[in-house]
Amino acid sequence: MDDVRNLIVIGGGPAGYTAALYAARANLEPLVIEGFNWGGQLMITSDVENYPGYADGVLGPAMMQDFRRQAERFGTTFLTDDVTRVDFSERPFRVWVGDDEYRAEAVIVATGATARQIGLDSERTLQGRGVSYCATCDAAFFRDKTVVVVGGGDSAMEEASFISRFASKVILVHRRDEFRASPIMVDRARANEKIEFVLNKVVVEVLGEGSVTGVRLHDTVTGEDSVLETDGLFVAIGHDPNTALFLDQLDHEPDTGYLITRGKSTETNVAGVFAAGDVQDHVYRQAVTAAGSGCAAALDAERWLSEQRHAALSAGLVVS
Ligand code: NAP
Repeated sequence: MDDVRNLIVIGGGPAGYTAALYAARANLEPLVIEGFNWGGQLMITSDVENYPGYADGVLGPAMMQDFRRQAERFGTTFLTDDVTRVDFSERPFRVWVGDDEYRAEAVIVATGATARQIGLDSERTLQGRGVSYCATCDAAFFRDKTVVVVGGGDSAMEEASFISRFASKVILVHRRDEFRASPIMVDRARANEKIEFVLNKVVVEVLGEGSVTGVRLHDTVTGEDSVLETDGLFVAIGHDPNTALFLDQLDHEPDTGYLITRGKSTETNVAGVFAAGDVQDHVYRQAVTAAGSGCAAALDAERWLSEQRHAALSAGLVVS
């Protein structure tokens, strides 16, 4: 049928745009439904210094513009809106944006994950200006500075330890006096003389004009408020994969909702539907690993589409 595309990519982050780039260069003429807020987590990052190829660093949003432009150059079509419903029960697969229906022989899901935020207006205002959600990305900007890390899970312990390689002092703020983190990770952080624990406290305001200068804390036991001076705030309270649309159709980890892919491939449990990037990876979560995964998904999709065509030709069917 004329209106059935080869490939729809859902998601406009490093994985989605890289998948589109490879698919477009393979003449698959992909449609990327990139989301209203396209660009993914890089859009709330300022300097990116660890993406290979940008020797002088690049601003996160500028990098995503580059990704998008490169995919566009080879014939990708973009729809800057949010997918509202999918039906992967039969082919062609169907994807809706409101009342508009799009159909394709293959789909790549690259909707990413969202770092949990504390939920403060001041936190949003200072994102990329001292508020960070990724120690691997941003710790090096805090050499010889004081940094607050929020959270009590393994991520918070790991990020506090990592940041302590750069910062002169790391203050780990947790809302309880017990930890979700594994004891060995807590012990390691406690043994680190640069890390100080501040327990039973929540951050209620991030202070600073233009950049972070402190946080206002609320004590969950005494009810008292206090101010802690800091140059940075790393929020390490977990990530949520953006998988709500797919949970009834694609296999996922029951506790976390991350999509499950087969072995080293990007195949999901539905033949012809692939998943790439952070939506199926809670381990590495880097722009470069997401991009690599997007490339793999495009190669997997291209191979799969070509197998389908060969199978249809040998069966004497006409394919569009
Ligand atoms: P997590 O285990 O869900 O822990 C989140 C932490 O953030 C909890 O301590 C929670 O406090 C706190 N928190 C949640 N919402 C908050 C809020 N609004 N304000 C303040 N604090 C808040 O998440 P994670 O640490 O990212 O770990 C996710 C998974 O990855 C886990 O299975 C973990 O073991 C794994 N992981 C493993 C490693 C490793 O082994 N090297 C490293 C990183 C992550 P409460 O405890 O009070 O709920």
